[in-house]
Amino acid sequence: MTLGIKCDTAIVGAGCAGVVAAHILADHGLDILVMDETPHTGGQSLRSLPWPQNPSIFTGLNRPGIRRLPGRIKTAPVPIMHRTQVIGIDGHLEILAEKNGKEIICITPQAVLLATGARETFVPFPGWTLPGVISTGAAQILMKGSGILPADNMVAAGLGPFLTAVSAEYLSNRGRLLSIADFGKMQGKLGMLTHGFHQFSKLLEGTRYLAKILGSKVPFHHQTMVLEATGTKELERVVLARVDNQGKIIAGTGKIYTTGCLAIGWGFAPNLELPLQAGCAILHDPELGGWVTAVNDAFESSIPGIFCAGEITGIAGASKSIIEGELAARGILEKLGREVDENRMAVLQRQRKHVLAFGAYFNRLHRVPDTVFCAIPDTVTICRCENITMGDIKTAVKKGYDTPALLKKALRCGMGFCQGRTCGPVINRILAAVTNRPAGDIPMLPVRMPVKPVSVRSFLQ
Ligand SMILES: Cc1cc2nc3c(=O)[nH]c(=O)nc-3n(C[C@H](O)[C@H](O)[C@H](O)COP(=O)(O)OP(=O)(O)OC[C@H]3O[C@@H](n4cnc5c(N)ncnc54)[C@H](O)[C@@H]3O)c2cc1C
Repeated sequence: MTLGIKCDTAIVGAGCAGVVAAHILADHGLDILVMDETPHTGGQSLRSLPWPQNPSIFTGLNRPGIRRLPGRIKTAPVPIMHRTQVIGIDGHLEILAEKNGKEIICITPQAVLLATGARETFVPFPGWTLPGVISTGAAQILMKGSGILPADNMVAAGLGPFLTAVSAEYLSNRGRLLSIADFGKMQGKLGMLTHGFHQFSKLLEGTRYLAKILGSKVPFHHQTMVLEATGTKELERVVLARVDNQGKIIAGTGKIYTTGCLAIGWGFAPNLELPLQAGCAILHDPELGGWVTAVNDAFESSIPGIFCAGEITGIAGASKSIIEGELAARGILEKLGREVDENRMAVLQRQRKHVLAFGAYFNRLHRVPDTVFCAIPDTVTICRCENITMGDIKTAVKKGYDTPALLKKALRCGMGFCQGRTCGPVINRILAAVTNRPAGDIPMLPVRMPVKPVSVRSFLQ
């Protein structure tokens, strides 16, 4: 174990927010340590591109949000510790990380920036654990990261703009898309027009994806969801069905597609494990995408010295993360006694307001009614690691285990390999739905160190 690596600021996450912050802080002469568990820089949206070896990646993207990156980012690469997963952090700013899967390092910075991004969320259905059922994010990673199609034909289902984006990407890569099932309404997409003025790039992006899909003549069903996926050893068939305005399946509308691949995605949830473990306050705001880290104007959390930026303070896409990366960097500079440009801060805050308004619109589009979670059949697996079904959860709730922490004790859900990263947000929604409580009344699953699986070997080095 390498103990006590000191630096001015440790940044967790080399996505849009983390990278922007790192460059600004490095430019001010601060000693920075950036850690990311992946082998790439750029986070979820730019994941496949090596950087800083190829800093032009940001300039090649035709998005004002990306173009807003400070000019210096093109010339001042910051060393990034890749394949380094942060497994714990406490309120005294001590960080524990596993490097290259074989060594534990301990970092004690003066300030920390958590920029850990988001992950996809799901609505479980019969057959969702079959091989061949993948997330829309996984489909995108295969195409963007490895240049391969997930399968030569596929059905895409779920909710929201990311579903549209991945479907269009699949078509552009000459995949044979059999059908798209979007739980949302077409009117939701058209509503983008009224919200597009401040986010013109997003409007263009969305229009491009829609044009690709509509031009391909692939059946694009709205108010439709997966009823079930079936197959003996792996996925063979997908049944899609229409839903009414309350999100209830309309009997007799089932349509069968024969395919070995189904990509599903229902939006995003912030990766809050590290802020939670450090003791940072969180707040629930549906317009920000649910539970998020609470920060002040300088992006400092309730724990002094721990700053948070990007998707973990609210789901609103790459532009918000870029803006917040810069705002958080300036907050850290101020904290460490450096001068900051107040005018620039004010400009960034204004820009952030616009992207937040757009984000709120998208988060409203992503809202799934409780009826959908109540309707999950009892036999469907919810916690995949520990094999806990919807029926198990409902029985435990009836016995009084009606919070994620109590369910974890009663059933072990959230205690497996993924540590609740997949089932956690689903369990929160199920608990809210079956107990008829607002989602904000259901706390998050408790988080323990290590927040990610780590090998014993690493501790022995
Ligand atoms: C699967 C997926 C695909 C997406 N694709 C797109 C897209 O194509 N276009 C788009 O505009 N938006 C996309 N998004 C939304 C995306 O989250 C934002 O647009 C943008 O990437 C957010 O930037 P960020 O810096 O907040 O987080 P991210 O870019 O996600 O960066 C967070 C980084 O933190 C790292 N990290 C997290 N936890 C740890 C840890 N414990 N230790 C070490 N490193 C850690 C991650 O590896 C990641 O690189 C996607 C989101 C997901 C989940």
